[in-house]
Order: sequence, then C-alpha cells, then structure tokens
Amino acid sequence: MRRAHGDERFHRDGGGRRPSGRARVRGPGSFREELEGLRQAGLLRRMRRVEHLGPNVARVDGRPAILFASNDYLGLSRHPRVVEAAAQAVALHGASATASRLVNGTHALYAELEEALAAFKGAQAALVFATGYMANLGVVTALASSREDLVLLDRLDHASLYDACAMSPAKTTRYPHCDLPALERRLAEGPGAGRTLVVTDGVFSMDGDVAPLAELREATRAASAWLVVDDAHGTGVLGPRGRGSCAAAGLHPDVEIGTLSKALGSLGGFVVGDRALVDYLVNRARPLIFSTGLPPSAVAAALAALRAAEAEPWRRERVLALAARARAALAAAGYEVLPGKTPIVPIVVGDERLASALSEACLERGVFVPAIRTPSVPAGRARLRMTLCADHTDGQLEQALAVLCEARERLSP
Ligand SMILES: *Cc1c(COP(=O)(O)O)cnc(C)c1O
Repeated sequence: MRRAHGDERFHRDGGGRRPSGRARVRGPGSFREELEGLRQAGLLRRMRRVEHLGPNVARVDGRPAILFASNDYLGLSRHPRVVEAAAQAVALHGASATASRLVNGTHALYAELEEALAAFKGAQAALVFATGYMANLGVVTALASSREDLVLLDRLDHASLYDACAMSPAKTTRYPHCDLPALERRLAEGPGAGRTLVVTDGVFSMDGDVAPLAELREATRAASAWLVVDDAHGTGVLGPRGRGSCAAAGLHPDVEIGTLSKALGSLGGFVVGDRALVDYLVNRARPLIFSTGLPPSAVAAALAALRAAEAEPWRRERVLALAARARAALAAAGYEVLPGKTPIVPIVVGDERLASALSEACLERGVFVPAIRTPSVPAGRARLRMTLCADHTDGQLEQALAVLCEARERLSP
C-alpha cells in the first residue's frame, strides 16, 4: 500500500484478508485457490438471477419469491409517472448522454434535476454524478487532494468512501462507529496544514442506524473541519418532507452526498452544498469529468421520483411503519434485530454460514432476504438484511415474518 492507514486494515474486518497463500507468488491459477478458500469460509459471493414478476415479486434462481432486498424504499422505481418520464425522455432525447457533461454539454434536464435537488435539500446548488459511488470518489478526491489533508472516517462508512480515500493522497484514519469522544480526541491533535474532512454515512447501510449528526456538526465546527455526510439511505425517507437525516437533525453539513438509486428509484448520485463547492467539483471531480453523463431517461425518472416523493408522503410513513412492525415481530421471535428507525432491518446472526443457510431456507419458502457477510460487515457479524418498500403489502410482510421465524426455529443453534 502506498500510504499508512494507521495500524488498521483497509476496509473493515476481513476486507483485505486473503484465505491463503499470501506469501507465495500469485500466478493466474491462484484465483481458483482463492475462490475455493472463500467457499470453504462460507464467504463465496455470486449473483442470483432475478426475473421480476410484479412489484416486489420475482423468480430468484428460478424460485418465485417476495423480495426484501431492494433499496427502492418508496417503491418509486415502478411509479407510473416515473416510468412514463423515463420512456418520454428516451423517445425525445435518445438512450445515452453520449459523452461527459463537460464535453458534450449538459442537457437541460440535468439543470432541472439539480435545481430541484438543491431546493429539496435547502442548499445553494447541486451536482449530479453517474452513481453515488462516483459522487463519493469525486468529492473526497477533490477536497482531500494533498498529502497535507486529513480524512476521518467512521469505521462503518460505505465502501465507496474508503475507496475514495485509497485514491486520495491525504492521510486517512478511521474512528470507531459513532464514537464521538474518539473522533474528538483525533480532532484535538490539531488540524494539519491542509483540510480536515470528517466523513460519515447519514444512515449506515448495513446497520440501519443514524449518525450522531448534531454532535458531529458541533465537533467539526469547533475543530474547523469539514463535515461531509453521505445520506444515500436517508434521502427521501427520513426527516421533514423526506429531506434526509441532516434535515431530521436540523442542520446542514458542509457537503451532503446522496444517491438517486435508492428511495428515488432511478440511477445516479448527487452532491449538494454551496455554489462555490459545486463550481469547484466541476473543475476537480475526475469521476464527473472523465465519465459519460447519466442517460436522459435516468435523469427524467429521478426528477419525476423526487416530485412523487414530495407529493405522496404516505410512502415514507408506510415504509417506516412496515419496518417498525418487522423489527418488533422479529425481536419478539428471538432474533437479534439492530435497533433503528429506518427501512433497513438488520437481523444479526453472527456466523457467516448460518446467515447463508437462513437466507437459503427462506428462499425455499418463497421469501428472499439476502445474507450479508464480511467484508460488507465485520467478520462474525453476518446478518440477514431485510429492507422494506412502501409497496410491500401487509400480506407479503406477514408471510416473510412467518417464514423467518420458522427458519430460526429450525436452523438456529
Ligand atoms: C448505496 C450507497 C452508495 C452508492 O450509491 P450508488 O448510487 O448505488 O452508487 C454510497 N453510499 C452509501 C452510504 C450507500 O449506501
């Protein structure tokens, strides 16, 4: 590795660990060995084949199942006005942006979406990226662009933020999850010669909890550091009018990042902040400059979804109520359910193989709840990650809860 990352492994427990053979010369054949190691550890990943049959229902690897795995929390990817907007945009503008926005110009639809996002978040300006992942790469590499800069990350921040740090020359350290005193100790060591960024998820994607944003705002102000919040999972769902976890905490970070790919049911990422920040990113954010813009259909869909999210508040009320019902029922059945008030219901089972077995058992009974294992979560904290959508029916949830409870009785030690 080029730089020190303190004494810590790069991203979460097990993130950089190889199952075997680290010291040996690793020829092309070593892939097979490494995959076999993953399989033996219960950590092999593969992509399931999914054929959608209707809202939240699909054939998963050939088996019909109700899906509890998507981040489409408000069900907007299937909203008639969202679908219609995407279709119209393709008909009018074609299927592709055809070049980087800095080369082939920015379509008027982008400007409209960016104005709507800035207004939604109560910020001066917004900038849309191809994905949330790329927005994170762009923001962190543009703002932490020198060796003098320092980036402090929550241990459970999203992988894209860790990847962004790997692309930045800045010094990176992580603090224990939501541990304010640890962060403050680090900040008290004083600013470096450059910028100090404190970068946190608003809602943590695998634990479904919310960062202590008010305290982080205070701590960063006191230390003249930047507060950067990635609110991929809060946007559209939490806070007044669904404006996200920062609005729920009644504050503005220095930089807020979001995605169009979760509650907004489309594809893309975005950054909101001051006009000068956006102008700076247009000049310095390489993932924006060197990659093709979003297709007009995705932009039009996101814009329609944003309007639908604001016009139909029942969607966020419904998804939060469903999640609360699931949490209560699963905890009552003896599962360790992480507390929270988001559509993400993490059911921690610990053992990697048990998580996979539970997920498989549920799928056999027509309910798909994915197993999440290291390195997405720390080793030994494997879980089922159940996510709710506003358009899950009561019956679908009841069936899922029954299947999950039955699987636990049968498989848990
Ligand atoms: C999903 C996610 C991203 C990536 O967003 P995409 O638009 O899917 O690339 C970034 N940050 C967090 C916290 C996420 O959960």
